[in-house]
Amino acid sequence: MIKHDKWSRDCIDFINDDAITDIIKSTTEDAEKVKRILDKSLRKEPLTVAETATLIATESSELVEDIFATARELKREVYGNRIVLFAPLYIGNFCINDCKYCAFRRSLRTTVRKTLTPDETIAQVEALENSGHKRLILVFGEHPDYTPEFIAESVRNVYAVKKGKGDIRRVNINAAPLDHEGFKTVKASGIGTYQIFQETYHHATYRKYHPENTHKGDYLWRLDGLSRAFESGCDDMGIGALFGLYDWRFEVLGLVTHSIHLQQKYGVGPHTISFPRIQPAHGMEIDPQYVVSDYDFKRLVAILRLAVPYTGLILTARESPEIRRELMEFGVSQIDAGTRIELAGYTKKDDSQELNKEQFAIGDVRSLDEVIHELLTTGYIPSFCTSCYRLGRTGEHFMEYAIPGFIQNFCTPNALLTLAEYLVDYSSDKTCEAGWKLIDDELEKMVDLDMRRQVSDKIEKIRNSNERDFCF
Ligand code: SAM
Ligand code: SF4
Repeated sequence: MIKHDKWSRDCIDFINDDAITDIIKSTTEDAEKVKRILDKSLRKEPLTVAETATLIATESSELVEDIFATARELKREVYGNRIVLFAPLYIGNFCINDCKYCAFRRSLRTTVRKTLTPDETIAQVEALENSGHKRLILVFGEHPDYTPEFIAESVRNVYAVKKGKGDIRRVNINAAPLDHEGFKTVKASGIGTYQIFQETYHHATYRKYHPENTHKGDYLWRLDGLSRAFESGCDDMGIGALFGLYDWRFEVLGLVTHSIHLQQKYGVGPHTISFPRIQPAHGMEIDPQYVVSDYDFKRLVAILRLAVPYTGLILTARESPEIRRELMEFGVSQIDAGTRIELAGYTKKDDSQELNKEQFAIGDVRSLDEVIHELLTTGYIPSFCTSCYRLGRTGEHFMEYAIPGFIQNFCTPNALLTLAEYLVDYSSDKTCEAGWKLIDDELEKMVDLDMRRQVSDKIEKIRNSNERDFCF
């Protein structure tokens, strides 16, 4: 295996495959225990691995319905009815790794490769701003060209683009794990979350999908990635597993173990968890035995919601609109919309996908406006809020605020303000109509009359002036 030459300290392999497998095998359905665990979740206490395993072992439909209902309730309590919106921006698909599920793997000669030039990046960001986006995640393959300095420069280029009334207020990253110095360099460019998916927590499966003679073949370097990120000042971390490589039960326990590890070691758990499901991809070689059914996918999202009450859950456009609609109520807090994953795809005329140019097939190609319209008419508040991270409410500090009253005082007002900006600056007529109706209804519901007045005043300013970007 290629050992990274930048190991600067001992890393701990906190994933014990045998222990996780044993707990899955030895845990059986237990209605009494499930009830106690669901009560604990409703008290917003994170679950242990053993408690999560009990929810995983629950098969009878009535109890699974209880799990779904509790996840819905918890989501409403912790996150209210907001859904945060973002878009991915692929910067480059050159890659030295050979992950067998990915169209960017190095052995595929037929993949069309491209790295956006600074001007091309600007053009993509202008297109994204013109559609109303405020939050992006930049995505990179792993390649010697994609150095920390290059990543940081890309972030700075994105923040500098101001098209019309548009601006990007938060840039997250999904890229290979870096060493300490690399994380510091990227952090200094002003990123929000650094996301690294372990893909599979199961060691043997990891070896099967990530050849030994590649950088990514080093399981421990990747597992330790977010620990190095935290130690380098990136206290806003996103973890994830690629569902479909191995048994979903194992991956859920791997994610919970990772989350507990970060919380115990650094006092801060991951900010977000992602749970991409394998999608068809150019040149992919997948063993289909672990494909996750829609029903199990629903179960695992609900169980994650209950196991980590304060961690944001991200559901991407890999999934179809129908699945996204259904899963949102179980505890998803962020979705991407208007997504294009072909390099330079945001300036392409149509929404056709060419699989030899993109990482995988996506299931939801609707525009941002269509997604927002659906959210508005199904009881959600679409939000582009970036306040917490910009006002320093991240990591440990964020946890202090994740308390009752926080949503009413910060999240809902900020969501309404960013929605008002979208409606004035970008929306279609029908979305505009649905949006102002929702804003009126939400203002009406605000019991704190002073807060209601403050929000209304700011909305008036958005309607009648060029002032933007108000934050609570
Ligand atoms: N090169 C970086 C890395 O490996 O960490 C960025 C990863 S990639 C651009 C983002 C994520 O997409 C991967 O971590 C993987 O989980 C996911 N992915 C790759 N192939 C996929 C597929 N066929 N279907 C769904 N998701 C996939
Ligand atoms: Fe490269 Fe990431 Fe694709 Fe693996 S998943 S081949 S590391 S882009």
